[in-house]
Amino acid sequence: MSRYFYDLHLHSCLSPCADDDMTPANIAGMASLCGLQLVALTDHNTCGNCGAFLTACRKYGIVGVPGMELTTAEEIHLVCLFPTLEAAEAFARDVKAARLPIKNKPAVFGNQLYMDDGDQILGEEPNLLIPATQLSLEEGTALALSHGGAAYPAHIDRPSNGILGILGALPERPFFPTLEINDPENLERYREQYGLQNRRLLCSSDAHRLESMRDAGSYLDLDDEPYSSQRVRDVLIGLLRGEMQ
Ligand SMILES: [Zn+2]
Ligand SMILES: [Zn+2]
Repeated sequence: MSRYFYDLHLHSCLSPCADDDMTPANIAGMASLCGLQLVALTDHNTCGNCGAFLTACRKYGIVGVPGMELTTAEEIHLVCLFPTLEAAEAFARDVKAARLPIKNKPAVFGNQLYMDDGDQILGEEPNLLIPATQLSLEEGTALALSHGGAAYPAHIDRPSNGILGILGALPERPFFPTLEINDPENLERYREQYGLQNRRLLCSSDAHRLESMRDAGSYLDLDDEPYSSQRVRDVLIGLLRGEMQ
């Protein structure tokens, strides 16, 4: 077993609400400074900066995970993580088909920048990424699983875009073996109050700016023999899908 300090919910400058200096290279560098070993990029309804992010993570010797924060039709935020860039990008193509074609207004909503791993801007996403997609909670979850990924409700301890705030309770279906809590101080209270003893509760920062990234605190113990970033991602996804202990 090896211990991985993680943050599995981070936004790059492709998310309109994130700072422009949340470049893939800066996030990887800051994650390394924070003492993290396992980090996921989860922009709103896109995986467009994940390739650059994985390359940047490799340079810092940490394990990057390609992901997305999907907004379902119910306005619930779902963290979707994938074992490979190819799987994430295939999922993202399906999500793109379910996005509403509303133009971004950068002055109002913020820039949506595609970057390479060396802080060069490659382009801008013209359509606003943040609105709800046409995928229901059930459809979005099934889609992520069908692409070999894991999907779980984000920041359930927040009223806006959290599954509990929107539905009032966790649905029986889809069953989520993993849930994300934003504030570590809420973890035990939520476990008790909502009967989450049989779920895996993750704490991630949902950082939209470099200064919001957290020092190493939350960790996962992963069986990672033989060591490789791919093996770590495979084990992680299996764990979050509830297929392993
Ligand atoms: Zn969110
Ligand atoms: Zn987020």
